[in-house]
Amino acid sequence: MSELLTAYKDETLGCTRCPLSATRTQVVFGSGDASAELMFVGEAPGFHEDQQGVPFVGQAGQLLEKLLNGIGLSRTDVYIANVLKCRPPGNRDPQPEEIEACESHLFHQIELIKPTLVATLGNFATKLLSGKPNGITRVHGVPQQVTLGGNAVTLYPLYHPAAALYTRAMLSVLEEDFARIPQLLGRPAAAPEVPEPFVPEPVFERAPEPAVQLGLF
Ligand code: URA
Repeated sequence: MSELLTAYKDETLGCTRCPLSATRTQVVFGSGDASAELMFVGEAPGFHEDQQGVPFVGQAGQLLEKLLNGIGLSRTDVYIANVLKCRPPGNRDPQPEEIEACESHLFHQIELIKPTLVATLGNFATKLLSGKPNGITRVHGVPQQVTLGGNAVTLYPLYHPAAALYTRAMLSVLEEDFARIPQLLGRPAAAPEVPEPFVPEPVFERAPEPAVQLGLF
């Protein structure tokens, strides 16, 4: 299956389906285990992801990695992708036409990877993959049964790590929701650890834009 995913990635790298192709440095297709049981879907590449061609490598990615480690997983155990494969200029919210143009890339990825659990990070991924307008504040931490890529999948909406970087209360909720992932994968709960406080570096990623990405809440 990983050959099919690699072939699809190669095809996608030259995508010109929407105007973001003119401003991106490169397509950020996704990364991780091509047959992962657990897949994360974020919003769109930011500055660092656009530079490196890998999703979640900036501040939000560091937090995602720490949360994964907290449940005994690492990036290489899961697959990570985004709703949009190209960076919106200035890290603005994805536009409906961009999501529409790009969504079949994500659906095809899910079809090839066949995860049993898809954790959506934030509003954009949650609304797209649930097919419902309900916002993340209402639905986070509640698994839903959906069909994606022709397969039955448990969808597990989570707050976006970038939002949790700015709001400590949201970080606690995200940690609590994350702790239920092993159970959703049918695995024993990760041994409780005394978490080291996550102390983010100053956030430069989105500067000079306003510090809070409102669409994430
Ligand atoms: N980095 C990503 O790759 N996706 C996001 O949604 C945010 C940061």
